[in-house]
Amino acid sequence: MRIAVYPGSFDPVHYGHIDIIERASALVDKLVVAVAVNPNKKPLFSLEERVEILEEVLKDYSNVYVESFEGLTVNFALKHGAQVVIRGLRAITDFENEFVFALTNKKLAPTTETVYLMTRSEYSFISSTGVKEVAYYGGNVTDMVPSMVAERLLKKYNDSLK
Ligand code: ADP
Repeated sequence: MRIAVYPGSFDPVHYGHIDIIERASALVDKLVVAVAVNPNKKPLFSLEERVEILEEVLKDYSNVYVESFEGLTVNFALKHGAQVVIRGLRAITDFENEFVFALTNKKLAPTTETVYLMTRSEYSFISSTGVKEVAYYGGNVTDMVPSMVAERLLKKYNDSLK
């Protein structure tokens, strides 16, 4: 069985991520979307909220599972019997970090392959940071995230103003 892991912060998940998930899930038997606890980032949505949102948004993909993890991606991949780590590439600016990420993974777990899927041009401008900024200032994010995510963003920012 071919298993892949797609790690990220997903704070929150957006159409760029969902497109990568859809395309990756067609290439493997099982895809685990791995929501990272990143001690260097202060997320808008808690780990539990990010997992819950992803589970709702991805509920129609029968071979896609959502889990949270802390620590090295390759250790999570090995624990789940995954041979592949999926990443998305937006622009040349992603390349440098991803190059280091892939080479580090290879060093730590030589049997694991890091595979890159190129963003679709219509999603290349989307980032979680951008989505949060637009939502924070009351802009329309419906072209960037599913409606359920847009509602959660609205609620989050409205609640924080109370
Ligand atoms: P990180 O916390 O590592 O920055 P993100 O949650 O932002 O992770 O993204 C997870 C993965 O999705 C990364 O591989 C990232 O490059 C990819 N990704 C993010 N935005 C897009 C997009 N618009 N199109 C394609 N891939 C994307």
